[in-house]
Amino acid sequence: MISIKNFTFNSFEVNTYVLSDETKECIIIDSACYEDFEKKIFYDYIEDNKLKPVRLLNTHCHIDHILGNAFVLEKYKLTTEIHKDGLPLLNNMKSYGMMFGITLEDIPKPTVFIEENQVIRFGNSSVKALYLPGHADGSLAFYSEEGFVVVGDVLFNGSIGRTDLPTGNHELLINNIKNKLFVLPDNTKVYCGHGPETTIGSEKGHNPYF
Ligand SMILES: [Zn+2]
Ligand SMILES: [Zn+2]
Repeated sequence: MISIKNFTFNSFEVNTYVLSDETKECIIIDSACYEDFEKKIFYDYIEDNKLKPVRLLNTHCHIDHILGNAFVLEKYKLTTEIHKDGLPLLNNMKSYGMMFGITLEDIPKPTVFIEENQVIRFGNSSVKALYLPGHADGSLAFYSEEGFVVVGDVLFNGSIGRTDLPTGNHELLINNIKNKLFVLPDNTKVYCGHGPETTIGSEKGHNPYF
């Protein structure tokens, strides 16, 4: 049984998720802790719960979602796991950050790439990678048959991801949400990259973009 812990980190208010199970192994989705006090909050949670981080996954490589990667990779000796189409974005983010006065620590090159529909295991549990470009190249969501999906910036409570940033594509985003998320059970909880959670059924019924 997977437990989910949500932190909201950095000035972009990104949700970082820690998924753990009874084995105490955990995976981190979108490590966004940036300030020292945020890194401490994150580290203390792992320590206090005696968790063992075994993977760091990124839904996509926009700068707000990777601000804690260097810290987590170093601390827990992990590698960034992304879809390979997100690599150009990842490589650009340091210079992109400079334009906004954000210092991004060097992130070691990913050595593991996640493919569409890949099953990602930890402890006694697993999530499946859904490939959903449209907000950004390489966008992934992570679905669990226990009844939830972590979607990054693809779908929000009452909204959808921006498509005006580099590699955005509105039509592709809408089609991917319809064909790959709205086919999940209505009671599937949706954990978003920003803001509160929702459900597939609620977004199918009330999201103004559909
Ligand atoms: Zn984004
Ligand atoms: Zn974001």
